[in-house]
Parts: sequence; C-alpha cells; structure tokens
Amino acid sequence: IIEGVTVERIRTVDGRAVGVDTDQGPVDAEYVVTCAGMWSHELGRQAGVNVPLHACEHFYLVTEPVPDLPAGLPTLRDTDNCIYVKEDAGRLLVGAFEPVAKPFGAEGLPTDRPFMQLDEDWDHLAPVYEKACERVPILGEIGIRLFFNGPESFTPDDRYLLGETPELRNHFVATGFNSVGIQSAGGAGKVLAEWIVGGRPPMDLWDVDIRRMLPFQTNRRYLRDRSVEALGLLYAMHWPFRQVDTARGVRRSPFHDRLADLGACHGESGGWERPNWYAPKGVEPVYEYSYGRQNWFEHSAAEHRACREGAALFDQTSLAKLLVQGPDAAAVLNHISSADVDVEPGTSVYTTWLNDRGGIEADLTVNRLDDERFLVVTAFSTQVRDSDWMARNTPDGARATITDVTSGYSVLGVFGPDSRRVLSPLTDADLGNEAFPFGTLREIDISYARVIAVRRTYMGELGWELYIPTEFSLGVFDELWATGQPVGLMPAGMHAMNSLRIEKAYRHWGDDIADEDTPLEAGLSWGVAWDKPGGFIGREALIAQREAGLTRRLVQFRLDDPEPLLYGNEPILADGSLVGRITSGMYGHTVGAALGMGYVTHEPGTPRDEVIGGSFEITVNGERIPATASYRPFYDPTGDRIRA
Ligand SMILES: Cc1cc2nc3c(=O)[nH]c(=O)nc-3n(C[C@H](O)[C@H](O)[C@H](O)COP(=O)(O)OP(=O)(O)OC[C@H]3O[C@@H](n4cnc5c(N)ncnc54)[C@H](O)[C@@H]3O)c2cc1C
Repeated sequence: IIEGVTVERIRTVDGRAVGVDTDQGPVDAEYVVTCAGMWSHELGRQAGVNVPLHACEHFYLVTEPVPDLPAGLPTLRDTDNCIYVKEDAGRLLVGAFEPVAKPFGAEGLPTDRPFMQLDEDWDHLAPVYEKACERVPILGEIGIRLFFNGPESFTPDDRYLLGETPELRNHFVATGFNSVGIQSAGGAGKVLAEWIVGGRPPMDLWDVDIRRMLPFQTNRRYLRDRSVEALGLLYAMHWPFRQVDTARGVRRSPFHDRLADLGACHGESGGWERPNWYAPKGVEPVYEYSYGRQNWFEHSAAEHRACREGAALFDQTSLAKLLVQGPDAAAVLNHISSADVDVEPGTSVYTTWLNDRGGIEADLTVNRLDDERFLVVTAFSTQVRDSDWMARNTPDGARATITDVTSGYSVLGVFGPDSRRVLSPLTDADLGNEAFPFGTLREIDISYARVIAVRRTYMGELGWELYIPTEFSLGVFDELWATGQPVGLMPAGMHAMNSLRIEKAYRHWGDDIADEDTPLEAGLSWGVAWDKPGGFIGREALIAQREAGLTRRLVQFRLDDPEPLLYGNEPILADGSLVGRITSGMYGHTVGAALGMGYVTHEPGTPRDEVIGGSFEITVNGERIPATASYRPFYDPTGDRIRA
C-alpha cells in the first residue's frame, strides 16, 4: 500500500486495464480496481468507463457529553423523521437522511485532499434537527460539540457499484456506497476479491453489479438531479411500486404524449418513462401508495381483462434490441444460446444464455431476420449485461458484429384474442395461423411503414410485437389506435403485463431466474437443445446436474385466500417448514388470487411430483396463508391461446 499518491489515469491496452499512471510514475497491474469514492466517476470517464455516481453533502451532529448516558445503547432509527441517533463515547450522535439533499461537486471535485469536511449548514439541517429534538427531548437541552458535514457518493438507484466494467476488461469497481460504505466494506471487499480471482461473481450480485448501469447514466445533470432524492430514499418508506420524482422524462418513447393523453401513469425504469397503468376519464394518473390494493388496482385489472378477452395495446419500446450480423453470427449465437437458434430465417426463438456452471446469465429472444442477421431482444435492464456477455463469448476473429439498435425501433405490442382483427385492416400480410404461426416473424407493411412483426408473447395471448423504425412510429400508432377503437382496443400498462405474465408463469430474469439458477431448476429445460451440433456454453454442467439430480425447483403458487397480495421475498413453507421464498409475485386478475413463484428446496432425488405434494403456506405480513402449488401455469397451461 502506497499512500499519498495520485492516480492520474488508468492505462489501457486493447480494451484492457494494464496499470495506472501516478504522479510518482507508472504502476503495472494485472487488474485495476477503481475505489476512489466520489472521484470514481471522473476517473472512469477518462478511461471511457461509465461509473454513475454523484456526491451529496451528508450530515451528522455530536452533542456535548450527556450526563449518565449508558454505554452500548442500540442505534435508534426514526425513519419517519429522517434521523438516526446513537451513543458515541458519552455523547449522542445524530445523523440525517433528509428528503431533499444537497448535491456536492457538480462543478468539479477538489483533488487536493483525501478527506473533506464541508461548511456547516444550519438552515438545511434545522428542520430535521427539530424533529430529532421532539423524538429525543434531551437533544434540545444540551449543546452541540460538532457539526460534521462530509461528501458521500450516491448512485441513481441507491445501490453500490461492484464488479468488472463492461467497457474495460480487468478493470473492476467498488464504489458508490450511498452512505453505507463502512458497514459494507468487508463483504464488498470479499466478494470483489473472489470475483477477480474466480473470473465471475461468487454469488448472485446483480443488485450491485455495475453492468446494470446504462450508458446514458453517466450524464452529469442526471446524476446530480437524482442524487437530490437518492440520499433521502434510504430512509423513505419503500412502498411497492414506488416511483422516483427526480430526473424524470429522460427517455420517452415516441408514443409518450399520445399515451399520456389516454391517461397513462408513467413509471420510471432505467430512464424510460413507461405507462404503468391508465387512469380512466375523471381519475388522476397519480399513485396512492399502500401495502394493500393501490388506487390503480381496478384500472389495471380492466387492462388485464382487455388483453384476455379483447385486445390491448402495450408500449414495449423500452425493450433492448441488439442487431447481430455477419457470416459467423449464427455460429456465435448458437454456441452462446442453450436453444437452437440456427433456424430458418423468419423464426423467433426464446432461449437462455448459460454460464459454464449452467446458471442463467440471460433469457431473451433471438429473431432470425435472414441468413446473416439476427435481432436479439432483451429487457432494458440487461441491455449492457447481455451485449457484454455476447461480446465476451464471441471468439477472436469471428466475423460477427453486435450493434445496439434500441433507439432505432419503437415497439408496440398488440395482444388479445381480437388482436388479429385489430391488425388485419392495416396490412396486406396474411396474419392467419398457417402463414404466420406462433414463434415466427415477418417484415410487413403497416400504415406507410415496413415493420418487423414478431408473433411472440409475454402476456400469454394471441398477438404481435411490432418493431417500428422510430420515425414511422406515430404514423403507425395513429392508424392502429383508430382502427382498434371499433374492436375495443384498450391501452395497457406494465402492471397489467406483470399480472398477465405471472398467470402464465413466465419467468422474470433478475427475480425468478439469474446466474445461480439453471434451466433444470427453473423448469426451462424444455427450451434446451441438448444435442445440437457444437453444443453450447453450460451444456456439460447441465448434463452433470441432470445426472446428479436436483435439490431445488421453481414452483408456481396461488394463495387460497383471494385477499392478500404478494410482492416477492415472502417465505414459502411446506408442511410447516421453511423451503424457500417467493421470487416474484403479483395479483392474477383472471385467476382471481395473488400468484407468486419461488424455488422449493428438497432432498436430492425427491421425485418431481413429491416436491409439490405437501401442504404449502406463504407467510404474508406475519400470517400463514395456505397456497396451491403447481409446476404448470395457473392460466392456459396448454398454451392453446397463444396459438389461436
Ligand atoms: C457524514 C457521514 C457519515 C457516514 N456514516 C456512515 C456510517 O455510519 N456507516 C457507514 O457504513 N458509512 C457511513 N458513511 C459513508 C462512508 O464513509 C462511505 O460510504 C465510505 O467512506 C466510502 O468508501 P470509499 O472507499 O468508496 O470512498 P472514500 O472513503 O471516499 O475513499 C476514496 C479514497 O480514494 C482516494 N482517491 C480518489 N481519487 C484518487 C486518485 N486519483 N488517486 C489516488 N487516490 C484517490 C481518496 O483520496 C479517498 O481516500 C458516512 C459518510 C459521511 C459523509
């Protein structure tokens, strides 16, 4: 450890970090870890690496000695009043997590000091301190010895940044600690060391993995504006579906204003403004949060029913789209995909991408446009991760390129038994089952546009995703909306999509499946092409697991009582014993109860049916609710409706 040295830049060769230049000369290194606190953003930027964080002023006060204060008092957290109070060598220390924080260093950070104490700001802190005095009255009677104000870095989602950066190999980060850097340091250091040595995260660390960050999130104004809210959110009520208030309107689909006119209540995810639900006329599109049924519950139920019984229109523009092309594109993709994606042009394949332990690194669709071009479609949240995974697993010299074309296409989803009736008048393409079966795609005319129509669904109904070149979007939308009205087309939001998909048991990557879960455990082995020529990454591990037998399986649950709701992380009990937790949950409006899924652990070799043969309960808010377990979806288990 060399102290008092300034790193001036990270040295790179061929996309790899190879050391650092310091004010005392160069240092070669096999690996470089940027853990420069709030300075990490700038240091990363110089090397072309996205490290999204911004500093805020962060405060605590220490009182004069408090007579007879017992040592070892527990820390008191009063989240409603945004304070914590703890005993500190005979004094009281009062820290603040105020709802509107003060960003620091937007005009540039000082580089001449490793540790900074900023000026007192009583005007800023007084409202919080007054509340503290109400909660702990003695604070109003004793003097204050120290007003401490120090800068700390905050990330856009209040979770820290760990792992290897996708832009630069052998370069890791451990930064953006959101005021919990001291308590997190031991664990963060341990897993980072294991990550470097093992070449992969030692456990599912997606929550804090830097690959979740998107390229735009390096924008300084975005970071500054979000940091104002990020600090206080740590103590704010973590309502289900809670939305952020700052840095909104960052990424808007072309349909944004049209959908707002139709009553959309937009939510923010990865910068995207996405309609979460639609307020009918006379209702304000504003959330009223609670742990029970929120104000949008019935409106979302109506959207859900429109999709099940008629036709619903979804704005799916936030999907990430990667164009993979070249003479070797098919071979490269087929080696990465567990399904066979070397299929006829015009075929859309759902596949998982596995690591060498058989864990699911990604689940997405590979759409073959022609012999040498594929459109890989994945969630907005895994845009960077999935393209990074593909780039890493593309052999040197392979004639295949990956281009992110997310901004080039908007996406409208038309789903429901009447979706064919909505779309047919707009196109001369044959949308019949024979000409356009499930799992296929065609480039077709709609309105004045050429559109890639993919017959595939996350909602479990007949329908199409339309990939529309961006500048044609509104033309297509306006005609589609007008044509859909006589058929009863309704706009539907992300909450309805979630309730629709959970009835169909469609897994959500990051919740229900991730890099520690295999397709065998997740019930996705139906998609694995075990014997395709050349094999695929993860095949050997999967075969070994198939032979050894499983010890956990993903199971669907329906609460027997229609009243309680599921949000995820609720304990699963089998015959009274804890066997797992709910990985994702949502109310199923057609099924008429809350649904969830989760892994049930069991003895090796337990027959599949026996695993769900017991009597199940899910603990909701401390109460055990009997639940029905199933491997099959609770809605349309045979999948007839998507092939209608
Ligand atoms: C008032 C306050 C109270 C807090 N209370 C708590 C608490 O109770 N519990 C808790 O867990 N956390 C707390 N924190 C947060 C905690 O202090 C931070 O999360 C933690 O220090 C972050 O560690 P870090 O290593 O990421 O960054 P830092 O501690 O900022 O360390 C980064 C280091 O990198 C150095 N550096 C930067 N650029 C360069 C360069 N180019 N070359 C060489 N060196 C460089 C800096 O000089 C610095 O020493 C608090 C923070 C504040 C401000």
